[in-house]
Amino acid sequence: MTSRVIPVDPFDLVIFGGTGDLARRKILPGLFRRFCAGQMPPSARIVGAARTELDHAGYREMASEAIKEFGGTTAANSDKLNAFLDTVYYVAIDALGDDGWEELQELCKEKNRVEAYYFSVTPALFGDLAERLHYWGMAGPDSRIVVEKPFGRNLATAKNLNATLAAHFDEHQIYRIDHYLGKETVQNLMAVRFGNMLFEPLWNAQYVDHIQITVAETVGVGGRGEYYDKAGAMRDMVQNHLMQLLCLIAMEPPARFDPDAVRDEKLKVIRALDPVLPHHLMRGQYEADHSDEKAHPSYREAVEDPRSKTESFIALKTHISNWRWAGTPFYLRTGKRMSARSSEITVVFKETPHSIFGEDAGRHRNVLSIRLQPNEGITLGVTIKEPGPGGMRLIDVPLDMTFAEALGADSEHVDAYERLIMDVIRGNQTLFMRGDEVEAAWAWTDPIIHGWEERGEVPKPYESGTDGTTDSHELMRRDGRKWREVSP
Ligand code: NAP
Repeated sequence: MTSRVIPVDPFDLVIFGGTGDLARRKILPGLFRRFCAGQMPPSARIVGAARTELDHAGYREMASEAIKEFGGTTAANSDKLNAFLDTVYYVAIDALGDDGWEELQELCKEKNRVEAYYFSVTPALFGDLAERLHYWGMAGPDSRIVVEKPFGRNLATAKNLNATLAAHFDEHQIYRIDHYLGKETVQNLMAVRFGNMLFEPLWNAQYVDHIQITVAETVGVGGRGEYYDKAGAMRDMVQNHLMQLLCLIAMEPPARFDPDAVRDEKLKVIRALDPVLPHHLMRGQYEADHSDEKAHPSYREAVEDPRSKTESFIALKTHISNWRWAGTPFYLRTGKRMSARSSEITVVFKETPHSIFGEDAGRHRNVLSIRLQPNEGITLGVTIKEPGPGGMRLIDVPLDMTFAEALGADSEHVDAYERLIMDVIRGNQTLFMRGDEVEAAWAWTDPIIHGWEERGEVPKPYESGTDGTTDSHELMRRDGRKWREVSP
């Protein structure tokens, strides 16, 4: 099935940090794919901006290599690469000085097109960039800024950053990106919930036993050790990605699918979250792995701090205190060096109240699993009769909707970043976090972090290639439940 592509309006997109990892791995290849799909008009311009001295040709060469290396090109589209590169420019600029700003101003002076500025630089520079854009007259009322994560490291720093940005841009101009929200399945989650009659009547504490959200990675901290050790899984993953998923799964139906209606409902979920009790929270650090010929250092070795207290794994239980969810536990876990790379939300429904088939048939539960990566798709486990003459025996089988299979390969190639960048150009903020949402998320997260710091807790070691600490399994076991297996 081929999706209909509607071209966006002509735009100038300035990528601050245009020579960095994110620009090379995601932003440039994504834009190239949108160009090939006919969504990015040929008159659009992409301007890389960073301190490295390069001319337009030099940056085009870098962009070309990045697009080829990171999967932008295929046999079907490589002939379009040169036309795409014609839309690419570069300005050597310093976010902390005056170098390059006049040139950028000159390059972007053409109006009557969308002006967007992507802050793909270290968060320490977000405020400086906003201030300089304003100073150099590029913070017009229709311009947009895209702000990468992390957005603050606690409530106070997030508030400061919001205030700095708000001094120069209105909230409707600020796009705080969380690429999880750009995933096809995340939007499909809303379509499944609010576009069908089937689920919503059951979507509450009366019918749902519990909800699990797992974001598991197989990689360790790699070269990001210095950054990661100051953040940890709570700040790096839970405060943003997992909480956004929690909001979408738990929110009330918004009146309309428009940015503020959706974000108002998400905000209500965050504000209704209970504090996490100390015994409902488990943290871990992965151990070294010598199971293959490659050396996989332990977390503490990777961050070069033998006494680090930062968690590379976290599991927790929380509740949402509102009418819909009172009493339903939400279990969240995320970690590095786990058994498989997998992001999944699982809604486990309650058992049927009475089994007409007798106790031998067993008690069954429907399980709805929403898989974000890999193999995006939604599976509903239903109970049926085991085929054959063996009597009335029940088994669970999946009703599977893997999007790539159901909708054709086309749906697979829209990466979260390219979808979100097109939303920026269209001026649609639905899939971006509002300032008050981010602050509410930190307001919930901060006391949890302060709690373990005050108690002097040290994360427990866990074996690489497993699904986290043993006490995280105990968290489930003592509630008579278990984590869904992390599978690739
Ligand atoms: P990176 O590889 O370190 O790139 C940083 C970029 O900023 C480079 O282009 C650098 O180029 C430029 N830069 C540094 N100082 C500058 C200054 N004073 N003025 C202008 N440009 C400056 O970082 P990254 O991994 O791309 O990450 C960028 C942002 O995205 C960060 O906020 C990060 O947290 C976020 N993020 C990244 C990823 C990812 O997968 N990489 C994922 C999620 C979020 P010069 O040295 O040439 O100036």
